Amino acid sequence: MTISQTAGNVCTISGLNTNRQTTANSADSKVISLPGTECVIKSQAYLSSFTSYRVGGAAQWYAAPRNLVALSASIEYAKEHNLPVTILGAGSNLLVSDQGIPGLVIATRHFRSKHFDLQTGQLTVAAGESIPNLAWEAAELGWEGLEWAVGIPGTVGGAVVMNAGAHSSCIAEMLVSAEILTPNGTLETITPADLGYKYRTSLLQGGDRIVTQATFQLRPGADPAKVKAITKQHKQHRLSTQPYNFPSCGSVFRNPKPYAAGWLIEQAGLKGYQIGGAQVAQLHANFIVNRGGAKASDIFYLINHIQREVQERWAIWLEPEVKMIGEFQPGY
Ligand SMILES: Cc1cc2nc3c(=O)[nH]c(=O)nc-3n(C[C@H](O)[C@H](O)[C@H](O)COP(=O)(O)OP(=O)(O)OC[C@H]3O[C@@H](n4cnc5c(N)ncnc54)[C@H](O)[C@@H]3O)c2cc1C
Repeated sequence: MTISQTAGNVCTISGLNTNRQTTANSADSKVISLPGTECVIKSQAYLSSFTSYRVGGAAQWYAAPRNLVALSASIEYAKEHNLPVTILGAGSNLLVSDQGIPGLVIATRHFRSKHFDLQTGQLTVAAGESIPNLAWEAAELGWEGLEWAVGIPGTVGGAVVMNAGAHSSCIAEMLVSAEILTPNGTLETITPADLGYKYRTSLLQGGDRIVTQATFQLRPGADPAKVKAITKQHKQHRLSTQPYNFPSCGSVFRNPKPYAAGWLIEQAGLKGYQIGGAQVAQLHANFIVNRGGAKASDIFYLINHIQREVQERWAIWLEPEVKMIGEFQPGY
């Protein structure tokens, strides 16, 4: 297989060897090796282990490539077998249906590499690197700019796609460029101007382009003790105002400006309201927590209930920030 760079920051990936070996793992699960890579594709992989809500059924097929060659081989496999592809980062903003997801789920969480460039103050990181870990590492080095992100338990890829943000900062403000694998196998370098960034959205959402790497502009040369202290302050603030002790996806709804979704939900009397194992958190009403044994459908019905109650009380329809994937049946 070759990956070739062409004009305009575009690379082409071609020549994948497609001889594959299938082994039966157990009665109802198969493992397929992708030749020339260390990557395997597994059938019936339960996604509750890969999402922060700890709910969700199985992916029909699941791959967790560690590099571009394995990622491309996984995509080739999906194309050949006509399988829809779903991309997963750390699964910290996802509600996966109890019925699971048809097609191939590709997790980019094992894409790892990072480079802090002292000359430019730029941090270049692979899609699977953890945002909170990067915030701590930058702080240790005395690099400012990522302190705000310490409480966001996602990957670089998910943060670029979601325009993750907190404490009045967001990814759009610091992204220099991102490397994207397109459906036709080309690698492109794009900038924030190409991404149509708005509050917690980007043009990458719902699309078929995969973030493989990103470069962020930071500010080296500060006192590490100072940067660590600010990072710690942000973390402590989050721990005291948001329920990190139960599985969740963070804020469930977008804030319908000028209002905060959490305030509208709280004023509608919904704090503590529970359906099955899913509960509106006591500490922060824009969080739905899995109190133990929740099903994705409990969370989905609770989302619907909150939307209806807030609509009735405030005439505002709350739009979910959480991405729901797979099938959900309305009608609790
Ligand atoms: C306790 C808690 C607190 C949170 N606090 C915040 C907060 O303060 N601010 C905030 O913005 N968010 C917050 N979140 C939500 C979440 O962490 C962010 O949205 C995060 O950016 C999602 O990253 P992820 O890697 O988990 O992406 P996932 O949840 O796995 O995916 C999110 C979306 O990105 C896509 N995606 C992921 N990786 C890639 C890739 N490599 N290429 C293409 N598409 C990809 C997925 O298909 C999906 O559409 C919180 C979540 C939790 C659980």
